[in-house]
Amino acid sequence: MQREASYRLLSRTVLTSNGCWMWTAAKAGRGYGVLRFRGRQWYAHRVSWVVYRGEIPQNICVLHRCDTPGCINPEHLFLGSYQDNSRDASCKGRLPGNRTHGSQKPIAKLDETSVRRIRLLYYGGASIRAIQRQYHPALTWEGIKAAAIGKTWRHVNFDEERTATR
Ligand SMILES: [Zn+2]
Repeated sequence: MQREASYRLLSRTVLTSNGCWMWTAAKAGRGYGVLRFRGRQWYAHRVSWVVYRGEIPQNICVLHRCDTPGCINPEHLFLGSYQDNSRDASCKGRLPGNRTHGSQKPIAKLDETSVRRIRLLYYGGASIRAIQRQYHPALTWEGIKAAAIGKTWRHVNFDEERTATR
């Protein structure tokens, strides 16, 4: 299934000189690729993230380093918060059916879900400072960093995340 999705993605892209995988099939407004995946419409770059990198946590955006909406190269993508979305319109203009759930209220104490989210953000390229500002203003920088690098919450691992989120 992952293989099949990967084929569907790759067969609809062309490689450009700057390494972008440009989507050549259906596009939404602003040039974002779209395709059907798991029974609904998805942005192609979000599917690419799921296929090559893993599940996207709730309330998290997949953003472009290359500022090319039609690009789905996973190397050019990173996870970010809604507040980082000035770079990327696909965060705001979400497709119908991709609504997020849950609150975005800051969490004062860490739990397993927030630790996983911190790690995904951190290894997706977000700074500890940005994670703190967005999600954990009540925690210290050191506390967030320790959770991010696995100094604390050692028993929490990434693999569970993949089955836990939709
Ligand atoms: Zn690109």
